[in-house]
Formats: sequence, C-alpha cells, structure tokens
Amino acid sequence: MTRLSSFFLLFTLLSACQTTAPQPKAEMLIINGNVMTMDTAYRSVDAIAIRAGKILALGTSKALMEYYRGDSTQILDVKGAFVMPGLIEGHGHFLSMGKSLTNLNLLHTRSWEEIVDSVKVRVARAKPGEWIYGRGWHQEKWDKRPIRNYFGYPDHRDLSAVSPDNPVLLSHASGHALFANKKAMELAGINSESPDPVGGAILRFSDGAPIGVFEENAMYPVQKAYQKYLNNKTPAEREQTFRDAVLRASKHCWQWGITSFQDAGTTPEEYQMYQKWKGEVGVRLNVMLLGEPKRLKQALDAGILNAQSNAVSCNAIKAYFDGALGSYGAWMLESYADKPHYFGQNTTPLDTLEALSDLAAQHRLQFCVHAIGDRANRAVLDLIEEKLTAGVLTKDHRWRIEHAQHIDPSDIPRFHTLGVIASMQPVHCTSDAPFVVKRLGHSRAKHGAYPWRSLLDAGAKMAIGTDVPVEEINPFVNIYAAVTRRRLDNGMTLFPEQRMTREEILQGYTIWNAYAAREEKEKGSLTPGKWADIVVFSKDLSKCKENDIPHNKVIYTILGGNIVYERKKI
Ligand SMILES: [Zn+2]
Repeated sequence: MTRLSSFFLLFTLLSACQTTAPQPKAEMLIINGNVMTMDTAYRSVDAIAIRAGKILALGTSKALMEYYRGDSTQILDVKGAFVMPGLIEGHGHFLSMGKSLTNLNLLHTRSWEEIVDSVKVRVARAKPGEWIYGRGWHQEKWDKRPIRNYFGYPDHRDLSAVSPDNPVLLSHASGHALFANKKAMELAGINSESPDPVGGAILRFSDGAPIGVFEENAMYPVQKAYQKYLNNKTPAEREQTFRDAVLRASKHCWQWGITSFQDAGTTPEEYQMYQKWKGEVGVRLNVMLLGEPKRLKQALDAGILNAQSNAVSCNAIKAYFDGALGSYGAWMLESYADKPHYFGQNTTPLDTLEALSDLAAQHRLQFCVHAIGDRANRAVLDLIEEKLTAGVLTKDHRWRIEHAQHIDPSDIPRFHTLGVIASMQPVHCTSDAPFVVKRLGHSRAKHGAYPWRSLLDAGAKMAIGTDVPVEEINPFVNIYAAVTRRRLDNGMTLFPEQRMTREEILQGYTIWNAYAAREEKEKGSLTPGKWADIVVFSKDLSKCKENDIPHNKVIYTILGGNIVYERKKI
C-alpha cells in the first residue's frame, strides 16, 4: 500500500516533467502545513493537491505550486498549522446526537434538584400532553446525594410534582437506564403489579411501587409509550424531525473536525431514510444495522444494502449483549463489589446473538457487539472462536466488540488471536473513573478496566470513538483521556499505566478507524487517490503540551475537497 503510494507520486511527478500532455491542475492546494499524513510513505510533506474530491498529490509547497497550480486553483495557505486526515468517529449515535442538540441536555447537571428545575422550565412552554425528553444524567456525577436515596437514585415525586400533566422521560448518560415521571409511567401502563422483565429491573419502593427508575429491558414500556407519541406525528412531521437532526448532527461534526462517522445502531427504516436524504448527510456515514434477526433478514433479503453511497453506507450488524457499568448493567463474571450477588444484565439472549451472528456471516457483514462486562466479552469471544473453528468466518472478518470495557486478563490476548477489533471510547474511562473501583474492586479495575495498553501490547486492533451523545463528541477531550487517563475537572487518574501514546490515538482516530469499517482504501490517511477529507488544527497534537490538547481548535474541516467549516477567530 505504502509502496504503491510512493510509486503513484513519483509517476505523477515524472509524467509532469517528461511528457507534453497537460498536467491535471489541482482545484485546491493546501500549502505551508505541518502535515501528519498517517501514511509512512509520505513523511516530509507540507502541501496537498486536491482534485475531484480526492488527493491528487503530496509534496513540498514549492513543488506542488509549480506542478499543480492552475488559473482557478484555490490556494489555502495554512501558515504552519497542523494538518491531518479528517477524523473518523468510530462509535457514536448520529441521529440521537442530532436530536440531543435540541432536547434537554443533562450531561453537565450536578444534582437531582438541577435536573428537576430544568424540566420545570421546559414544562412551562410545553404543549398539553407533549413529552419532555432529556438525556445525559448520571447519579454518580452529582455533587450531593439525593435526599431520598435508592441505590443512589432519587424517586419520581419531585419530578412528577413539577410536571403533573406532561410525561417526562430522562435517559441515563449510559443509555442503559431511564427516569420516568408519574404521567409517563401511567401512559406506559406501569404500576406496582408490573413484573420485572427478563434482562431488566424496575426499581421499587418497599411497597412495590416503581420509584421511576427503569434499568435495561425494563425501559422498554416507557420508550414504547414515547415512541407511540412520536408515531402519532404525521409522516411529514417525522421526516422533518429526521432531516433537522441530520443537518444539526452534520454541522456539529464539522465543528469538531469529524468527516466520517460510524453509527452504532441504525434501524433498516432509518437506513432507508438516510438513503433518501443522502444529499443532506454532511459526513461519510457508515452505519451498523440494528434490529431483531427476523426483521434484519427480511431487510437484507430485500436488498436494503444495494443502496450504498459515498455519504451513507452499511457493512455491519449491531447487537447489544449487556448494559453499562454505571447502571450495574455490565454482565460480570464475579458480582459487583458494591452490589453483592449481582452480576449485571444479559440484555440479548445468546441464541438471538447467535442468529444475528449467522446473518452477519452469511451476508459477509461485520458483527459489532456491545459488550461491557467481562462475562459478556468472554461470551462474544467464545462465539467468534466457534465460528472461526467451524470455518464460517474468514480470518479477515473484522468483527468488533463495542466498548470491550472490562476484560478478564486471560481474555485480553484473544482479541489479537481471534482478530477481534476492540472498539474503545477513551473518554468513558475518565468519565467513569469516580465509580470504577467502587463497582469492581481494586484488582479487577487495575487489571481489566479499559485495558488499552494491555490490548495494544498483545497485538489487538482498536477503533476509537466517543459514544456521542453518551459523551460529547469533542475529540480533543477524548484524545486527552487516551493519553493521560486523567479527569479534566479534578485531576483524578485511573491506572495511567494503561495509557495510549499520541501516535496511537491519532492513528486510532484515522487509519485504525478506517480499517475497523473496511474503509482503509478510501480514507484514514493522506494518500493520493483517497478522499480529500482533511482537518487543520491550531495545535500540533503529536507534540503540543499535554495540557494544551483539550484546548485545541479546529481551523478548517475539509470534506471531499470542500471547506465545510472555517473558524472565524482563532
Ligand atoms: Zn453506543
């Protein structure tokens, strides 16, 4: 690959010198850059020539200006700023992110009272019966404990008092629990008689009445009631909401230098909507298909994947196998240190997971399984090992474990030997830091929690994401978390021996993520022939001071040779 690239450049330059054929001119020349190409064949480069959305050539500013400048070539002199391939978000939720930009954002709330107050403000301007939807709260991140306290959670009474007529659904930051007020519970048909579903828990007062918190599969009736409300909107209203979310999400990506996005869970219906409105999707979106095996089989048999474009493509199936650590949903081999005899939740039965994996194998799709707890991780590794042994999977399957957060040390080398990609979100580590040792105990946390260094040293391939909107999409905070494992607010550090290097995290955000979605031939490095997806940053992320990483600024985001974002003031 790298040899081919050098040959391509050499050939282009030679042909410019030796023949009389007109040299194709660049539409844009980026010059005077501090360029990190992520392609070892191009180390000393300070300029990029772009044509027809692709990278035409790399070289020195002087040489490229000489060979590729035409009458209408746009010259972008970046004056020594840091230039690298457009960032790829390796695991996020595109539509939810778009919607979250208008919904109640509770990511930074510090107490239950603050949440209740923000709901009260929304209720004041809501229409009768309108649902109030928010997400991002996390009881472990509050400055003080709620007055009435059930496993750290408050109960619904304050929330129901400020919103007696409007149903309220507040999704946990992890997405694996939710809070509902009385009205929402009524509409969902939940009362003290409602049983706990398989793979879920309704938290209750001592008399059996729900306190308002629903974990894992117990969230379903409330979500269904909310979905029913959304479905009652006209198709035109729904389509408008979809398009608004897509436009907002796209712009949000550009502001942060993200030019490609891997969506960790798109239904077949959403995929079709994306295809219909692909002209409005402002990043290269690669989705993982989400649904019941029967529904996915139907969609795949009907040829849903025949519609692939540069804007929207799909080559993976997604499944959720367990929950999250914060909400005690991660499925563990040993019980939680702060919840004895409790092992978490297996949210999808193993036979359903097997059916989905069969479907992925038959259609030569990647299979991306959400697994956070060590028990869940082991079960997925076992499943992949069985498939490899049976010869159902090729060696280059690139199946992924999404999060791969808590891994038994004996399973760490298996990621490399089985060719499983560990899809990690560095910012989860610093975000969860306050409760990781509490949940797991010191030894399990030290040897198996977010074990990036151990995985990389054992030869595992990795993908890098933020899980936006569970976390902010901000790549600089994520990069800082990867190279320090230190919280920005109070300096708390979680087992720094598991840090990544700068080079690793920058490769993670580019070429590793491209590989993790089978797209390394089109993107992930600045190489002639690949998409001209490029970002220009104010700081050199490869060597700026560690404390400067979170304060980096995006100066330009370039997608397919077009400037889609330009910072007005640096
Ligand atoms: Zn996710």
